[in-house]
Amino acid sequence: MAQKKEIKGEIFCNLEHIVQLEPKRMSMGVRPSGNLHLGSFTTLLLSLYALSQVKGATLDLEVMDLDFDLQRGRVAKPYYNETIGDEKTGETRLVGDELVRQLEEAIKVVERLLGETVRDRIDLRKFSEVYRNPAMTETFAHLILNPLSRAQIKHAIFDGKGNRFDVPLYPICPDCGMSGATQPRVIIETKELETRCFNPDCSTDVYRVSLLDPGAYNIHYFIDPIRDSVKCKNHPVSDLHIFGGDYGIQGGQKKLTKAERIRVIYNQASNTPPAIFIGPEITIGQLKMSKSTGIGVDWKNVALLREYVDLILTFVSSVESDQPSRLDYLKIQERLGV
Ligand SMILES: [Zn+2]
Repeated sequence: MAQKKEIKGEIFCNLEHIVQLEPKRMSMGVRPSGNLHLGSFTTLLLSLYALSQVKGATLDLEVMDLDFDLQRGRVAKPYYNETIGDEKTGETRLVGDELVRQLEEAIKVVERLLGETVRDRIDLRKFSEVYRNPAMTETFAHLILNPLSRAQIKHAIFDGKGNRFDVPLYPICPDCGMSGATQPRVIIETKELETRCFNPDCSTDVYRVSLLDPGAYNIHYFIDPIRDSVKCKNHPVSDLHIFGGDYGIQGGQKKLTKAERIRVIYNQASNTPPAIFIGPEITIGQLKMSKSTGIGVDWKNVALLREYVDLILTFVSSVESDQPSRLDYLKIQERLGV
């Protein structure tokens, strides 16, 4: 009789537990969906604090530029080739590069506030660069081509959403650079993905991309953490992934958190999945904090940030359980006196 596979990958919310685990390689990802906001800054802060506490540990800090933004209808805009203009200089750069630049800046600020240098232990890169490693691309392709793991991944990601999708990969149209938000067909023999362009302004209909061509398709953010488990040159396996508070929120039919669903995918990719730390969810009143919400404390305002950093670290250190915690930004503002 087949043994039921044990689900591994501890999930916890207590900051001090990171020190007890003594991770060697931690990882964290940020989507390039706009300027670095306070939520991502908070997750970064917790990662850098953990680095300062666990001597010798390293951090993979990745900008998830193979992710995409859902536009109206069935068209998605890949971050991979999206650019942003600098108002002062007039130059444009990729949103992924811009976020790398902002993270560099934020790391310096946090280092000053923590009184510790950790930059030399951080590998800061765009995920599209990491994904160019053939071992990484092949592992992803292998999981997609294998019907069993594909089904598991599909189930973990699209739980309770009507299952319009099958494969959580989104080929980028070679003509217009947009991406279809509906499922591509997997062509096993040629290791290709086939889909059609839904951009009304584009003349391309059906197109195919190779699964082994990094940058030819977007990756649903639920499966990109597979990178933590892939053994390849210059990219050893991670043993701890640090997520923001939204990964502790339950959803879907089975009322699982994002962290629990990602753990299913981790288990598909590895026998030694990383542990998962979930930071606090920052809300504004009862609302989820989003990138577009005006946030009182500018993360570049170092004087206020000093207070913010102390407040967050005190709060997260007081979380004893494995239950995700919430922190209301209005209360933070009150405490900071802004
Ligand atoms: Zn197109």
